Amino acid sequence: MTKMNSTTTIEQLNQPGQPEWEIVIGLEIHAQIASNAKLFSGSAVGGSNAPNSRVSFLDAGMPGILPVVNSKCIDAAIKTGLGLHGTINKLSIFDRKNYFYPDLPSGYQISQFFHPIVSGGYVECADDDSAPAPDHDSDPDNNTVKRFGITRIHLEQDAGKCIHDVDPQKSYVDLNRSGVALMEIVTEPDMRSVPQAVSVAKKIHTLVRYLGVCDGNMELGNFRIDANISVHKPGTPFGTRVEIKNLNSFRFMQAALSYEIERQIMVVESGGSVVQETRLFDSNIGVTSTMREKEDASDYRYFPDPDLRPIILSQDRIQAIKDSMPELPDDRKARLIDKCFLNEYDADIISCDRQIGEFYDAVMLFDGFKDRKAAYKAVANWIIGDLFAAIKDEGISFSEVKLLPLTLAKLVALIQDGTISVTAGKKVFAKLLDGGVADPAEIVESVGLRQISDESEIRAVVLQVINDYHNAAAAYRAGKISTFGFFVGHVMKRFSGRANPDVVNKVLRAELEASPQN
Ligand code: ADP
Ligand code: MG
Repeated sequence: MTKMNSTTTIEQLNQPGQPEWEIVIGLEIHAQIASNAKLFSGSAVGGSNAPNSRVSFLDAGMPGILPVVNSKCIDAAIKTGLGLHGTINKLSIFDRKNYFYPDLPSGYQISQFFHPIVSGGYVECADDDSAPAPDHDSDPDNNTVKRFGITRIHLEQDAGKCIHDVDPQKSYVDLNRSGVALMEIVTEPDMRSVPQAVSVAKKIHTLVRYLGVCDGNMELGNFRIDANISVHKPGTPFGTRVEIKNLNSFRFMQAALSYEIERQIMVVESGGSVVQETRLFDSNIGVTSTMREKEDASDYRYFPDPDLRPIILSQDRIQAIKDSMPELPDDRKARLIDKCFLNEYDADIISCDRQIGEFYDAVMLFDGFKDRKAAYKAVANWIIGDLFAAIKDEGISFSEVKLLPLTLAKLVALIQDGTISVTAGKKVFAKLLDGGVADPAEIVESVGLRQISDESEIRAVVLQVINDYHNAAAAYRAGKISTFGFFVGHVMKRFSGRANPDVVNKVLRAELEASPQN
């Protein structure tokens, strides 16, 4: 058997002369809804982490306590459904999913099985991958994006947590998480490569953060991915799928899927068959291993929860939520490309985080740019280049940046109107980041960075330099034009770098080319 490692590629596994293996991936994403209270009880979602400090009788599974739906959580699912272009079902129903687990004291989880709140929808991802598009890509003529189907979104309760590693003799149960609202976003088995699957997961991650329905914190498990994967030969039915559970970083997702593809191909090629099961990825050794054989839906004995009424949604409520939604990441990106003339790369970076996108838009509200069209690109460069570098250096997050959008706008305007050079602009920028003085013009004056553009002032120095280095000037005039840079350097030095380089070039060239003065 070939030895597998994380750098083996599917191309290496495919045998010459044989049809290639095709990969099929579908995702189930659990996004914890950013709400103050749990899905069916008033217990707090955040706050104290002392075990069992945020547990109501309902969360503890006490009999006779009735669940009450948190309507904020319903709104969050509607928003997400709209953001994913899905159909919001005006009638949806909570079902009980029955199973035993020590951290599930009621013996069932309230979920939505037969009638989820959202059906259908899609995500679009840039087509930067050689893998084929899904079979039903509804816009096959648009070859810059591929479309991946969303099957459904349903609401459900999270379970508590078992703690096994504190005492060798005992296990503990912490119910703080019990009953916290989750959205499960299920995709169609539409992805045909690992990069496609990672792009789709990232797209959904960006969207839920944009909408403010989930904080997206993957380390805390607030956004976790179950990836289903199978392999088959083209023209044959899909292979048996394996589910890899609880992937909590995109890097692990990539590694786990790559490993699993190789494992499945190897199993099938050596005459075995893939078992339908749930596997866990151990990020320390880069390997998936069996967690449990997968139950079928019928094992859970789903039935409508008799304690909860169906959720009935009016068109008015759906419309009101639609009206309250921010511009979506894809729409912002398209606008940045169409209206602000940004390239794909810049538009992607600025639109993939709502705060950054709003910061950019706020800078562009400034109406004092001399050249607005150039400002679109210049502002993007300042954000993606200097601002991101500063954030990285300081180890802070974008929300901790003190620089105000208007301040950055004024800085760009000062460069555009020639008051300061780009180099001086970088110095001003560094001072602006420190906080304190908010007006770049004040810094320009106090540090003496104003650029000198006055031609006669510059000509006086140019003439001095030509006079001091008359041999070099003679050489230039005799055709050794490579000495031009030498003169520029000397003129700039005498101005301590503050002369406007365009004016220096112009005056210097004119004076060197004029007939020598005696
Ligand atoms: P369950 O709820 O039991 O996990 P579902 O039918 O709801 O099963 O499917 C769960 C996920 O598995 C979906 O994301 C779907 O896209 C994906 N999936 C289904 N069939 C396959 C397959 N053959 N290969 C890869 N993924 C698949
Ligand atoms: Mg599942």
